[in-house]
Amino acid sequence: MVESIIMDSLEKRSHVQRAKAVIFDFDGTLAVLNIDFSLMRERVFEVMRAFGVKEDSIKERYLLEIIDEVYPILWGKNPSDAKEFYEKAHQILHEIEMNAAREGKLIPGGEETLKTLRRKGMKVGIITRNCEKAVRQVFPEIDDYCDAFISRDFVEKVKPHPDHLNSMLNVLKVAGKDSVMIGDHLIDIQAGKIAGMITVGVLTGRITRNEFEEAGADYILKDVSEIDRLLMEDI
Ligand SMILES: [Mg+2]
Repeated sequence: MVESIIMDSLEKRSHVQRAKAVIFDFDGTLAVLNIDFSLMRERVFEVMRAFGVKEDSIKERYLLEIIDEVYPILWGKNPSDAKEFYEKAHQILHEIEMNAAREGKLIPGGEETLKTLRRKGMKVGIITRNCEKAVRQVFPEIDDYCDAFISRDFVEKVKPHPDHLNSMLNVLKVAGKDSVMIGDHLIDIQAGKIAGMITVGVLTGRITRNEFEEAGADYILKDVSEIDRLLMEDI
């Protein structure tokens, strides 16, 4: 038992040591953004109900996926309703995201961390379920700090769906096993695990240490500024 734990941790350690890329989540990881998700949900559900779709018929858990679930249901009945619902729902998301972005700011030490990793030859990617415009509002110089940035505008299916991380790995030309996924949400841990990456949870969002442990995060850090030390084996 003890031996297998030691083996596991050695394996994890060597995985971290050979990492060639770090992929960051944005909201709650590189930036502090107070997006009102319950208001978002309430308003989208209101529109959904107005188009005759009942809440209890919905299987998906997260809002973007719920919109994608409702769209074909409405399309089957009336394509113009489907289009109108989709546009209205995304308008609500956009409006609330942009409001949060105007008040948003970067996590202290975040820019420095990205710079340091790149200076050391590490590839840096940023992926987010947020829209591009809101991210650029908070971080206008984002392109100078990473090798690739993929918001939800550029993929059909967002994380935790594997497509989102896989498209980032393709752009960076690295394998999942040579990369680290770091984020403040369980979605980030889930997505990273599917892609075979080392996963790191940061405590700058709403998820607690216990929840990250239960989700099987490989490492848990106070914030992104500790990632450099983790990669350099100081932690
Ligand atoms: Mg996040």
